[in-house]
Amino acid sequence: MPFVETMTPRERVLAALARKPVDLTPVSSPTNVATVDLMDLVDSYFPEANRDPELNARLAATGYTELGFDSIMPYFTIIQESSALGCEMQWEGKDNWPTVRMSRPIWKGPQDIKIPRNFLEHRDTKAITGSIEILKKLYGKEVAIIGKTMGPWTLGYHVFGVEGFLLMSIDDPARTMECMHKLKEISVLYGEAQIAAGADALTFPDHATGDLVSGEYYKRFLLELHQEMAERLKVPLILHICGFTLDRLDYIAQNRMAAFHFDSKNDPAKAVQIAGGRIGLVGNINNPLTLYARGPEEVRAEVFRCMDAGVNMIAPECAVPLATKLENLLEIPRAVRAWHQQHASNGSAKKR
Ligand SMILES: [Zn+2]
Repeated sequence: MPFVETMTPRERVLAALARKPVDLTPVSSPTNVATVDLMDLVDSYFPEANRDPELNARLAATGYTELGFDSIMPYFTIIQESSALGCEMQWEGKDNWPTVRMSRPIWKGPQDIKIPRNFLEHRDTKAITGSIEILKKLYGKEVAIIGKTMGPWTLGYHVFGVEGFLLMSIDDPARTMECMHKLKEISVLYGEAQIAAGADALTFPDHATGDLVSGEYYKRFLLELHQEMAERLKVPLILHICGFTLDRLDYIAQNRMAAFHFDSKNDPAKAVQIAGGRIGLVGNINNPLTLYARGPEEVRAEVFRCMDAGVNMIAPECAVPLATKLENLLEIPRAVRAWHQQHASNGSAKKR
């Protein structure tokens, strides 16, 4: 018996985020799927597509219209707030990511943290809220529109510099916490602005990764703070941390957010086991090796691995390389349907 699709993409994503039954597992990237090929297709390019609502919406929509994903993510980068805070930016060109010049921090300590009065009116914060309004009007009934607000840990890297911020966390944890509590207000402010613009859910990147800090760091500095975010921001939140995170996943699973977007450095079956139904999982198709360098067959194998493990939403592990081949991205939703087809015809569809 063929399986039947009974939900809209939006219903599917929101049900998966609530860990309720879905007709098929949604494909939804909480970070970015815009590529150079997609920019060419709609004539909207980096860096301008990050700075103009209309160009942004046009490029973001391709995640749904061209790739067939179940959600649209207009915030491609991690730098919009930091630009509005006054960080020095390197905007780069069409085929490269804009970045914050973290070697030139703008602040030294908690006393310096001030949210500019026009923060939400700055062109780089407005680019995303304006785009969400456009996307909501065009696609909001059928597709989930996911926004993104950076967590205080990542903002700390941007405004204090990675080295300065990590040294502070070792030398003076209390001062670091004071910074976190001030920076979190930026996360709330920008998150609420995107919810008001029409975002159905928010990605919350907060890069306390195993590549830089220990699992205990998550508990010490971020667990309670993330619980507070889950309380204050009134849409489902998707925490995003790249790199190895299995050693902190037990803590992450207690943060009361809807889901955790995890990296391919973590085995999906182990991640599902540790999460234990306390938080949903989104991920974790490898970017540099699989999506960028290999072909649809390898992509399918990784999608199946996630599906077999019971991952709640299927996605690339993080923002895809801008030169990723379209055929590999198109394979993700195809593979999900093929998996369901196989399981429906076996009569052994798992309850997900
Ligand atoms: Zn990432």
